[in-house]
Parts: sequence; C-alpha cells; structure tokens
Amino acid sequence: MKITFPHMGNTYIAVKGLLEDLGNEVVLAPRCSKKTLELGTKYSPESICLPLKINIGNYIEAIEKGADTVLITGSCGPCRFGFYHIMEQYLLNDFGYDVRIIAFDPPDGKPMVLFNRIAEAMNTSNPYKIIRSGKKAYEILCEADALTDLANKKRPIAINRYEIDMIVEEFYRDIEYTHGVQEILQLIKNTRVRLEEIAIDTERKPIKVGIIGEIYTIIEPFVNLEVEKKLGYLGAEVEKSLTPSDWARHHIFSFPFGSKEEKSKWEAARPYLSTLVGGHGRETIGSAVQYAQAGFDGLIQIFPLTCMPEIVAESILPTIQRDYDIPILTLVVDEMTGEAGYLTRLEAFIDLLKKRREDKNYEGMLLRS
Ligand code: SF4
Repeated sequence: MKITFPHMGNTYIAVKGLLEDLGNEVVLAPRCSKKTLELGTKYSPESICLPLKINIGNYIEAIEKGADTVLITGSCGPCRFGFYHIMEQYLLNDFGYDVRIIAFDPPDGKPMVLFNRIAEAMNTSNPYKIIRSGKKAYEILCEADALTDLANKKRPIAINRYEIDMIVEEFYRDIEYTHGVQEILQLIKNTRVRLEEIAIDTERKPIKVGIIGEIYTIIEPFVNLEVEKKLGYLGAEVEKSLTPSDWARHHIFSFPFGSKEEKSKWEAARPYLSTLVGGHGRETIGSAVQYAQAGFDGLIQIFPLTCMPEIVAESILPTIQRDYDIPILTLVVDEMTGEAGYLTRLEAFIDLLKKRREDKNYEGMLLRS
C-alpha cells in the first residue's frame, strides 16, 4: 500500500511522521500549487467548495507519483465535508484513477468500523502502537504550529523579514527529505532555533489582526494566498483562530467532551449564535468576540465561495463589529481569486487599522495632557 493524504496546513507533516513510524510507504503530494488547483478544478463539480477541488488536485498529483490509497478524516453535521470522501471516491474512479479512499469517519455507534479503518491505514491493529505513534504525531503537529506562530509573530518586527521566509521555506523543503517522527522533530527544533536568532526591532509595535473563518482556508497557505506572510510584510502581527493542533485537541485528544478552548468559543458566541451551523461557523463568531475582547485591532474572516457555515457567520459579524467597535474584513476565495485585488484589500484594511491606532493614541495623549 502506497498511502497519501491531502494537504491541510501543517497536518501533512504529522501524518507523514505517524505513518512512516508505523512502517508505511508514504507518497507525499507536492505542495499545493497552481497545477494542483487547475487539476482539482478540472475534475470537480464547478459549484463545490474550494477545499474539495484542492484535495482532488493533491490526490491526482500523488497518484502520478505512485500512491494507491488516500487517507482522509470524515465529519458530521450540516456541512459538505461529511460527504467529501464519498464524492472524492466517485470522482477519482469516474476519471479512471484506481485508488481507494480510507476515511476516518465519526463512529456513529459503530466504533469497530472506525477502528478497523484506522488499523488498515496504520498497517497495524495493535492499539498500543497506534496510540503511542498518535501521541508523537500530535507532538509534531503542536510543534509545527508553534513554529508557524513564531514566524507570524516575528515577521512584522524582524529587521530583515526575508530571513524569516527563507528559513520557513527551507523547513518545508527539508521536511520532504526527513523520515519518521524523530527526524521531523529534530528539524523543527533546529528551525525554531534559527527563527529565534533573527534580530528584531523592539521599538516596533505591530497592529494585531485575528484571522477567523473556515479552517481549511485559515491553515492552508496556498488557499489563503499566504495571507499571514502578506500581513506580516504590511506590519501586522497575525494570530489564527484555528490550527490543525487545535482541531486534533478538540476532536481526538478531548473526545468525546471537546477541548476547553473550543467550548469557550461556543460560550462567547452564544449571545449571537447558540447552535451548530456546520463547519466552524459558531467558532468564527466566538473567536471574533474573544479577539475583540482581547483588544485586537482588526479581524479578517476568510472562507471559500459557497461555504454555508461561514455565510451564516458573515451575516452576524457586522453586529459584532458594531457592538465591539472592531473593523472586520471578509475575504472570499475561489479558483478565480486574483492576487492583486486581494492584496489591495489587505493594504487598505491595514491602513485603516493603523489610522485608527494613531487616532486612539492621539486621543489618549490629549486626555493625559
Ligand atoms: S466548512 Fe465550508 S468550505 Fe469547508 S467543507 Fe464545509 S461547506 Fe465546504
């Protein structure tokens, strides 16, 4: 079995380590690119949300490298993600790709069905081995997300911002040549040391922007047109409301109760949205409230065109913007999104936030004098 999986931010790094540690042959899909998008768009229904198109592109590129099995998680609730693996299986077979998809679906009262699928994908039915490797993979996920976070925090204050991108780029390139958990963790550690050594300007006080919205668009840099990098270059410190490690903490390591962090978002969202609307619509609202309360300068919601849960959240965000006096920009992405227009909107938004910061500082000065 030659196994592959879609790109979803840093998730692939952890899954690669996990499967390799258990003795599987992993075929890594090339990082998402224009080619991935073109393939996905060509072989997917036009109106389906963008993540499925990119998934299909990833699979085809991995199949061309020899993959014969695809691993993906499932979902439940009112959102298309729950049907992804079924649609993807049909699409790939329809277009002549002889590949099998193994989906880790919620157990729905049949835990053995899920366990058998996990055992098949992991190449072992020894629960001890699976749990031990799963914990190590979670460690990779947390460390990789912390690395991304460190880069995002340092970029706006680094004396030479290009150094950050160079180190991050080298990291993602070198990941492809590592094997197993230990090598990956060592590479993360080395990269962290290099990032920490980058000189910063302690005088700079970057504005703070929270990224909210649909999880895939938040975590996959190709899909959000590297929004973190662009914002960093514009002088903004970015914090993402969702990361792959948050997802794993909530859905796997705190199962069946859910993580404290995600539940606190539901609580914060309650005055505006008290029910599940699918995807992370409720978390988008909760995160917006929490970021506003924490004094962030502005928020950016990103989601794929036709994403139902985020359309619901988008309709509520103007109320939060008014109640907390915090600017919120919404960006909708699909295969037609042009980089120039996207960047112009980000620049205008950051200019607005900087002006508001200046005005507030000036008012503060007047009050003190
Ligand atoms: S959350 Fe939105 S974009 Fe993601 S699968 Fe569901 S409908 Fe599609």
